[in-house]
Amino acid sequence: MIELKGITKRFDDQPVFENIDLSLAQGEIIVVIGPSGTGKSTLLRCINFLERPDAGHLTVGDLSFDVTRATTRDILALRRRTAFVFQNYALFANKTALENISEGMIVVDGLPKAQAHARAREILERIGLADKADAYPASLSGGQQQRVGIGRAMAANAEVILFDEPTSALDPEWVDEVLGLMKQLAAERQTMIVVTHEMRFARDVADRVIFMDEGRIVEQAPPSELFHQPRDERTQRFLRKVL
Ligand code: ADP
Ligand code: MG
Repeated sequence: MIELKGITKRFDDQPVFENIDLSLAQGEIIVVIGPSGTGKSTLLRCINFLERPDAGHLTVGDLSFDVTRATTRDILALRRRTAFVFQNYALFANKTALENISEGMIVVDGLPKAQAHARAREILERIGLADKADAYPASLSGGQQQRVGIGRAMAANAEVILFDEPTSALDPEWVDEVLGLMKQLAAERQTMIVVTHEMRFARDVADRVIFMDEGRIVEQAPPSELFHQPRDERTQRFLRKVL
């Protein structure tokens, strides 16, 4: 359903990773772990062309193309199928929670405003922020802002939601409410790839955990296997540090 084949990304001729292969089934929950500077964010960003990969082939649902020949139309189609949740929320400061969630439905999907707002209210209900529809990001807690960030991704109705360390900018008191919402989405079998340092979340929610190091997928396995019997020495070393 989602397939990366030979995905390569360089910055100034320096490869971050080369020839990454990865496939996901519909409804699969993948957690990516690994040291910082390893290419986790860049890989996620390549999947929706926030970074343009230098080589490889991408397939998301019925869309499939060689990244070097991607047209503007391919990229727009890709972005409709892949929603992104940022570490720092990346909300529009001058828009309310309701507007942040409905904006994409109006601008990207071309929904009439009334319909987009009605759908945004349903999402606000689901993310537990029905009473914050008219609040601006600055008046919300970090946890509430990130829930709006996730609500915006839900509104996109994407095939996959890509989460890049969604809780690492949060004060500890807000982490659980964001992880709780992500667990709710996982229980509904929303396909997702989550880069995180929350090992408990990985253990409880992931179908598969991927350990990346120095631009390589070193090892991938269900959490019960990867956390208890890591095969590679680099995985063992990393887990000793974080567990
Ligand atoms: P991670 O998310 O695992 O911490 P990143 O994907 O952010 O790792 O970074 C991987 C490597 O790519 C790092 O060496 C980082 O410095 C480099 N890098 C990331 N983004 C850029 C950029 N926009 N320009 C140049 N180098 C970058
Ligand atoms: Mg990162």
